[in-house]
Amino acid sequence: MSLLVIGSIAYDSVTTVVGSRERALGGSATFFSIAASYFTSVGLVAVIGDDFKCRDLEILRRHDIELSGLERRPGESFRWEGVYDTDDLNKRITLDTRLNVFEEFDPVLSTKQKETEFLFLANIDPSLQLQVLEQFDVKPKFVGLDTMDFWITNKKDTLKEVVKRVDVLFVDESEVKVLAGQSSVVKSARMILGLGPTFVVVKRGDRGVIVFGQDSVFSVPAFPVETVVDPTGAGDSFAGGFVGYLAACGYTEDHDIPRATIFGCMMGAFAVESFSIDRLDLIKNKDIEFRFGKIVEMIGFEDLATNRCFPFVST
Ligand code: AMP
Repeated sequence: MSLLVIGSIAYDSVTTVVGSRERALGGSATFFSIAASYFTSVGLVAVIGDDFKCRDLEILRRHDIELSGLERRPGESFRWEGVYDTDDLNKRITLDTRLNVFEEFDPVLSTKQKETEFLFLANIDPSLQLQVLEQFDVKPKFVGLDTMDFWITNKKDTLKEVVKRVDVLFVDESEVKVLAGQSSVVKSARMILGLGPTFVVVKRGDRGVIVFGQDSVFSVPAFPVETVVDPTGAGDSFAGGFVGYLAACGYTEDHDIPRATIFGCMMGAFAVESFSIDRLDLIKNKDIEFRFGKIVEMIGFEDLATNRCFPFVST
């Protein structure tokens, strides 16, 4: 196992303009680990209730996800319910969040898990994220962090403690502003970079992502998808592609980050093409190769950079 993730495994009830799905497999760690499994071997730290279906465990096993850190406890699995704006799929309202078995979750990592070089703290209670991070005697080579408005509002101080100790923070456009207490995305990202991360990745839904580094900034568009069925899990799948690629290539230098961002955009685009993990579950390597080529074509401005012909009036 080269990549370890802690996060939620959930049953989601989601309504979008296309329709709705009740109690479907979801959760931040689920989307992340399936997306990352196309690039590297993944281990999971999470908890499920006794209502969790064997069929859903099979899906995780089929992706070779290492499940020794998956605990089953009496009670119900994490539940999340949300509805998306009919005119703007980037906007959603959370109707219900039930932590259920996560309320009592107390993860203890094995020696092998503590040797992992790549750690992803997917969206879950920041106290749990911190608890996992603190079990490492030596900081892993790479630590990524995702979160959401629920935790920014309810556990901002603990979350900031986690932010200080990670390499890359993934947040969406509105969340980064609330976390930093600023009204501008750029100022917010700069402020968060000042806390410690090397990169802040700001996710902007169907408008792609902006990646802020200590001395750099670049953006990658979202891969254009004909029909967005359900945006749930797009951010987690983005992170799965991004960190999965870094773990696969060993992340030796910051030059790996733009390529990781492209893989992230592609995995996010697969996730939105169906409810739950339906599409993400069925990707073929040739689909990834095809979309990688397309997205590189989309952003390929090499010609513009080499043929520098500026039609300025001389001054
Ligand atoms: P995303 O659309 O990438 O933000 O991810 C949505 C997923 O995160 C859903 O599958 C939910 O089950 C899960 N989720 C929603 N709220 C929370 C929360 N407060 N903590 C952890 N996971 C959550």
